[in-house]
Amino acid sequence: MPQTLEVPIDQRIDFPQRCARCGAVPTSTWPCMAKRGVDLNLFTFGRTSDISIPVCTQCWTIRRAVSSLAMILLSIGSLVAVGFLLPWLDGEGLIGFWLGLMV
Ligand SMILES: [Zn+2]
Repeated sequence: MPQTLEVPIDQRIDFPQRCARCGAVPTSTWPCMAKRGVDLNLFTFGRTSDISIPVCTQCWTIRRAVSSLAMILLSIGSLVAVGFLLPWLDGEGLIGFWLGLMV
């Protein structure tokens, strides 16, 4: 069940020495970053704080596998979407499509 944690941006956070997901003995840390402010592609304003969340090997492996699977599915979905769009684009429409992807 997801929980919300409010993090003071100016203070260092020390987590208890147990896995944040299952409570086992931690063997690694999961690096996260807390941000406050505006974060656009070309412009960033605000403050950040690095947070290291303790996790066990099993939870770290699951987390990485889920991230990898999500990236693979996103890549496949993007290629399928482009494959469906290409037949309807011709000439100027195709140039506009590629320019739109680069922005
Ligand atoms: Zn764990």
